[in-house]
Amino acid sequence: MIRYVGLMRSTLVALFPLALVAALFLGVVHARPTPSFRRTIPQESFRTDRCTWYCHNHGCRHKTSLPDWLTSDAGAFGFTIRGLYALGRVVSNDAPTGYGIANLLVFCTAWPVLTYGLWITALLQHKSLKRERARQRHAEVA
Ligand SMILES: [Zn+2]
Repeated sequence: MIRYVGLMRSTLVALFPLALVAALFLGVVHARPTPSFRRTIPQESFRTDRCTWYCHNHGCRHKTSLPDWLTSDAGAFGFTIRGLYALGRVVSNDAPTGYGIANLLVFCTAWPVLTYGLWITALLQHKSLKRERARQRHAEVA
């Protein structure tokens, strides 16, 4: 019985992130009034004190607070964008379509699967450590 309860609890903890995402998704889809999602990219004017949609639409001229190796076209940001375009060329001859598909593959499929795999790995390691601690305690008593 204890083993069954432990298995049930482990299963519920393992499935919790999936149930949470599904609940949030359904909550947004069925919300009334419907949340207002943008249908077009906003057009804003350039501001010197902060980024606006102008930066998104035309490129940012502001000094970044993060280091260049992370944010520059020669750094991680540029590497990621070039990688997405390269992956996109594998799946489509149309560059914007391929780039879009690559974004969906990486950020809506691979990244969540990887994150969920790490969640399951952490749970399994937690369970293994707990079992090992119990075994050591049992060995000390005997
Ligand atoms: Zn900016």
